[in-house]
Amino acid sequence: MKLNTNYLNLAESYLFSTIAKKVNAYQAANPDKQVLRLGIGDVTLPLAPVVIEAMHQAVDEMSKKETFKGYGPEQGYAFLKDSVQGYYARMGVTLEGDEIFISDGAKSDCGNILDIFDTDNVVLVPDPVYPVYVDTNVMSGRKILYMNANAENGFLPMPDDSVHADIIYICSPNNPTGAAYTLDQLKVWVAYAKKNNAVILYDAAYECFTGEGVARSIFQIEEAKTCAIEICSFSKTAGFTGTRCGYTVVPKALMFDGVSCNKLWLRRQTTKFNGVSYIVQRGAAAVFSEEGEKQIQANLAIYQNNARIIAQTMDELGIFYTGGKHSPYIWLQCPNGMKSWDFFDLLLNEIQVVGTPGSGFGKNGEGFFRLTAFGSEQTTKEACARIKKLLSK
Ligand code: PLP
Repeated sequence: MKLNTNYLNLAESYLFSTIAKKVNAYQAANPDKQVLRLGIGDVTLPLAPVVIEAMHQAVDEMSKKETFKGYGPEQGYAFLKDSVQGYYARMGVTLEGDEIFISDGAKSDCGNILDIFDTDNVVLVPDPVYPVYVDTNVMSGRKILYMNANAENGFLPMPDDSVHADIIYICSPNNPTGAAYTLDQLKVWVAYAKKNNAVILYDAAYECFTGEGVARSIFQIEEAKTCAIEICSFSKTAGFTGTRCGYTVVPKALMFDGVSCNKLWLRRQTTKFNGVSYIVQRGAAAVFSEEGEKQIQANLAIYQNNARIIAQTMDELGIFYTGGKHSPYIWLQCPNGMKSWDFFDLLLNEIQVVGTPGSGFGKNGEGFFRLTAFGSEQTTKEACARIKKLLSK
């Protein structure tokens, strides 16, 4: 028996455990100090009432012989796929029902989708990066190339025609940088993917935060249906991080050497996945009802307002940052050329504010820092007031 020793090539991730250790040690030594956490990438508001109501009803259905549900379709119930289809239609994107695959979240699909691609493909990821893109490819031994995202390109790298790639990761709005591509920029990526006979894996987990002027779905570009897969989630849209539901769009027009990616993915899912629970899918479908969209928007508006408060603070301090506008993340340059962890220590020790050191997301993250808008308005305002006082000294 031989193990998959590619796992031994994974870099240990110390980022969040080191943060937790430092914060716990600080709090233990200073029990009277109130620590404010602006580092979390998880939502904090509860599920919307329409979602809860739909899930309660679904639980009741499960209690009666006549309405009980056993195994459902692996790729998701038609009622939820119809809702997702309607959601895309409202942004001007036409999808067929069987191009939509319901999943238990974007993280699993980011990893699972690689099953349909050979390990002998060159992967292109941005640096800094959401670590899942890197680690899932290291696990299967693929070669990974990094593209520089930095202050010069606004953390939105564009294709380098001298580099060949087969699998391209684009996350927009981006985690951790909050930067979001325009449709014109994505068109350049689509052209590059076509030229390289490559596939774009487009992570749209934060599309719900986008406004005018930036892309929401890569399929707003019609030609992308021949070179892209989109992975999305109810996690940030509707607070499903603990409930678990997402969707992946694999267009039928996506073919390589005459083979349909949609067919391969369907085969993969029907073989290795038994679908998302009926109760959760009912809750997810309620998100895209008229009332659901209203309630979801009310929650998103709270996070968006927090993002605005943080961005405004950076504007007032004259600090360079990306994000904050189409994203719950504010990615800021540490003042006075400080390193990410030094800035982390400064904020924790001096004003008891916790963020995430940018260096934990890649070498280009050094000297940068991520703050998130998922806290309460009160915490966000208080943290920003402390940051302003500290940095305007
Ligand atoms: N993609 C990105 C870029 C993320 O930041 C996250 C979670 O933070 C995910 C995917 C995971 O989403 P899900 O909760 O649907 O697995």
